[in-house]
Amino acid sequence: MDLNTPLSKGSRIYKMYANRLAKLGIIKVEDFLYHIPFRYDDYSLISKIDKVQEGETVTIIGEVKDIKNIFTRRYKKIQKAIIQDETGTIEAIWFNQPFILNIIKKSNRVSLSGKIKRNLNKNTLESPEYEVLNADSKNIHTGRLVPVYPQTWGVSSKWLRKQVYLTLEENGKNLDDYLPQQIIGDEKLVPLKKAIYNIHFPQSLDQADLAKKRLAFDELFLMQLSGLIKKQEWKEIKSGKKFEIKKFAEKIEEYIQSLPFELTTSQKKATHEIIEDLSLEKPMNRLLEGDVGSGKTVVGTVAIYLAFLNKLQTVLMAPTEILANQHYVTIHNLLAPFGVKVQLRTSGSKKNNSDFDILVGTHAVISPKINLKKLGLVIIDEQQRFGVEQRAMVRNKGENPHFLTMTATPIPRTVALTMYGDLDLSYLDEMPKGRQRVKTWLVNEEKRHNAYKWIEEQIINNRDQAFIICPFIEESESMITVKAAVKEFEKLKKEIFPKLKICLLHGKMKSSEKEESLKKFKEGKYDILVATPVVEVGIDIPNATIMFIEGAERFGLSQLHQLRGRVGRGEKQSYCLLFTESKSPKTIDRLKTLEQVYIGAKLAEYDLKARGPGELYGKLQHGVPNLKVATFSDFNLIRKTKNIAQNLLKDIDSYPKIKNKLMSSELKSISPD
Ligand code: ADP
Ligand code: MG
Repeated sequence: MDLNTPLSKGSRIYKMYANRLAKLGIIKVEDFLYHIPFRYDDYSLISKIDKVQEGETVTIIGEVKDIKNIFTRRYKKIQKAIIQDETGTIEAIWFNQPFILNIIKKSNRVSLSGKIKRNLNKNTLESPEYEVLNADSKNIHTGRLVPVYPQTWGVSSKWLRKQVYLTLEENGKNLDDYLPQQIIGDEKLVPLKKAIYNIHFPQSLDQADLAKKRLAFDELFLMQLSGLIKKQEWKEIKSGKKFEIKKFAEKIEEYIQSLPFELTTSQKKATHEIIEDLSLEKPMNRLLEGDVGSGKTVVGTVAIYLAFLNKLQTVLMAPTEILANQHYVTIHNLLAPFGVKVQLRTSGSKKNNSDFDILVGTHAVISPKINLKKLGLVIIDEQQRFGVEQRAMVRNKGENPHFLTMTATPIPRTVALTMYGDLDLSYLDEMPKGRQRVKTWLVNEEKRHNAYKWIEEQIINNRDQAFIICPFIEESESMITVKAAVKEFEKLKKEIFPKLKICLLHGKMKSSEKEESLKKFKEGKYDILVATPVVEVGIDIPNATIMFIEGAERFGLSQLHQLRGRVGRGEKQSYCLLFTESKSPKTIDRLKTLEQVYIGAKLAEYDLKARGPGELYGKLQHGVPNLKVATFSDFNLIRKTKNIAQNLLKDIDSYPKIKNKLMSSELKSISPD
């Protein structure tokens, strides 16, 4: 086995464990080395037996004088060993681990690490870590800083430690430093081999930190470089769909003038960037990012209109049918007067009519049935994960339409540029004028009753409408989430708001029922819409002014901000009320941030710091890279690695080792898990 051997082709035990290890992202032998410990247990204090003191964490090394199972009165087994060194003897005990007797035998030399407890006036090592020392083996589980690894069912941290050690023994010498000496020197990085050894088996925490610094650098640097390379490759593709722009400049201007509002400065800039892209031979590959309500759709319609003028079709993919419907209505209202044929395709509408200029739907919208020859533009709303597959599918057919991805996932700009390094970025960083701030309060449980009363008054006196969002019980729209929502709905209807008209929206409803609820809510036939967190993305109901969120602690701040963005879309003052049963001061502080901060990207930074990128991106969105060592909140390192990658890109061909490294990490990311 070498570093590149897939575990599924490795030793018997690796084959057996391959599936479990894949859950940890360990696919080939080298991945053991990149399985990073999340902490180190300090067992480096080695003590003679007569010197140990109660409460100390120590390692003792000695000979096993005796080891046996002892049965307690409650039929539990205790393993008890007597260890001796030249200064005395000490007892070690474990609870219910009879297999230890198969590992530790009388007269073995052992190393035990753990805490000294006082038992019946005797010093005892309770449940120590242990390893049997052979003449030639080094200690790895005891007597040093011991790495502790993320584990999974059937794969313990201790077992992983052993594999990391064996891999280093066998193949560590083959670790090749792919970074040029120049960069290593300039950035004062430790060499790769040293970094890998020291991230696992450091002599000191300082060494571990330096190792981490090197590996974090590599991780972001490689990500940046890979994005830049993809972007360069993309540049070389010819779309053959270069749009005629000049000829239609007047028409575009006329369209923009026809809008019932003036575009914001950042909308204008984004529109300009998109038009520029469309005029080129290479297909556009752009991410349009902006808070909920910042007006991305309108920007998209300019591109759609331009495609139409060029006699090309557009498809727009939305993540849910509700949103597809809404886009359909918006786009129809804006573009139909200009002769654009707008069509909706959802699972409900079966007809396959190719007579459209723009087709709106969920992911089914790009199907093999579409005539790709006439496809000039693909717009993907709110979900990067579609993008990757759809791009591949379209391109596999030899077609290269322009791609525009729109997202409200509030990612700080620097992070977006790293995660989606292969995309160009347009950023809507201002809200349309006249938009009011949504007044936000974290409401404590005692005031719940008053809050209900207040909502009722607002609705009756001001003809307001409210959303009530049920807690995020599980990530997906599971039956448990739905049941909880239904129960809450019944309670609100019967006990809390008997005078008001309430409707329900959840993901297990038929799409016709969902549309019906939304339509009636929009028309004002209902006062309150009770929903599971599905409404999170994109619904536009200008008259809704109250957003009431239960179980707020279960959401990230960015998600709460997105929910809050559902209201405050009209003229009236809007409100967001957050409820939590949590008493934790940390949680309360975190939620109170929303009372002060109204910028999505800012809140995303807080999330990054408080909950880690996994929370923010991993669960929210698939297909987003997971960092192992670096963090997306390290903006300095992000910037620095970007610059270095950009410089190196110019003569990437002189760095075959880096190219190899990139290729092997890319192979891994497409392996099944
Ligand atoms: P997003 O998709 O970014 O959440 P939308 O495109 O749905 O936002 O726009 C939200 C609302 O704001 C829509 O009702 C839209 O008509 C309106 N809107 C968009 N741009 C402007 C603008 N420049 N001025 C005023 N209202 C705007
Ligand atoms: Mg939108």
